[in-house]
Amino acid sequence: MTDAFEVQGDFSPAQTSDFSPAETFVDTAEPVAAEPALPNGFVKLGLAAELLRAVEDLGYTQPTLVQEKVIPLALPTDDAAGKAYIDLMVSSQTGSGKTAAFLLPVLHTLIQNQAQAEARERAAFEQAVADAAAKGVAPPKKPRRKNPTDVRNFKAPSPGALVVCPTRELAQQVAHDAIELVKHCRGLRIANIVGGMPYQLQIARLQNADLVVATPGRLLDLHRSMQIKLDQVRFLVVDEADRMLDLGFSDDLAEINQLTSQRQQTMMFSATFAPRIQQLALRVMHDNGASVQKVQIDTPQEKHANIRQVLLWADNITHKRKLLDHWLRDASIDQAIVFASTQVECDGLANDLQQ
Ligand code: AMP
Repeated sequence: MTDAFEVQGDFSPAQTSDFSPAETFVDTAEPVAAEPALPNGFVKLGLAAELLRAVEDLGYTQPTLVQEKVIPLALPTDDAAGKAYIDLMVSSQTGSGKTAAFLLPVLHTLIQNQAQAEARERAAFEQAVADAAAKGVAPPKKPRRKNPTDVRNFKAPSPGALVVCPTRELAQQVAHDAIELVKHCRGLRIANIVGGMPYQLQIARLQNADLVVATPGRLLDLHRSMQIKLDQVRFLVVDEADRMLDLGFSDDLAEINQLTSQRQQTMMFSATFAPRIQQLALRVMHDNGASVQKVQIDTPQEKHANIRQVLLWADNITHKRKLLDHWLRDASIDQAIVFASTQVECDGLANDLQQ
């Protein structure tokens, strides 16, 4: 089954995703143009030039509503103590452009931090060269970059940013979007942690990851086996928080909250601000969510007037199937959606109905 994305608003055609795990690693070395030549609505948001080029490549000309509201709030402001970030809770639907709304500011900050770290390293190296020259000894050699996929070079990765998603498909889609957005960035690595991929391959691909997109279960597995460290995470994004709750990830999120307690920013995205989401925020935001800023993108769902809800008790699965068969034989029904709780049940049901 593939995930269908409905694109709302004045978008260019949705990007199709043919993400494969092999794309997980990114270390592009394309030169970055000094100034992107764009009359593009993203420029005024103050994002890094590399990201503006990627956004242009993707055909985005104007930020969507959620991007316009979230990106300026998510970017840091300078205050006396350094950079200040605010925690955000955002209600917006899939299709609103929410993924880029959290990826762009996080990637922007990672790019800036990386540039600063590189400048510090360069200065230290130049100093070492100058010191060597002054002493009349051979200049130090630049350390060679080790192949991170070689097990001999293993070092538990400690990403600076973490995005948690409820499902493997969503995590792969978000990682794919992040890879598209960093394609003009040098050495910014995106990795994907999801169930169903062989551990060794996943661990190898995690090396030097700057941003990790993960489902909670596999992430905590890898953390418990010390294959990943979370103490350097500065940015945590919880995507589709409502689905996280539906899938029973509340305790996992609370654990991730603890493990990343030194972070500077938390962003939580959800289709609604229903009370249960607010309760989750209490468990996974800093200060129990006391200082979180809410961004409401969609108007609250109105109650539909013409819906009749009926509850039918079934004695067992055979009875349930018979009831379903009975109801679906109603010739006045043009369209119907049947939900089942597991993939196996879904497949079996679809098969029976097709018969
Ligand atoms: P999302 O809500 O993040 O799942 O995004 C839905 C779709 O909108 C994806 O296919 C994105 O590639 C696309 N998209 C996101 N932002 C923009 C934008 N500013 N302009 C056009 N398309 C966009």
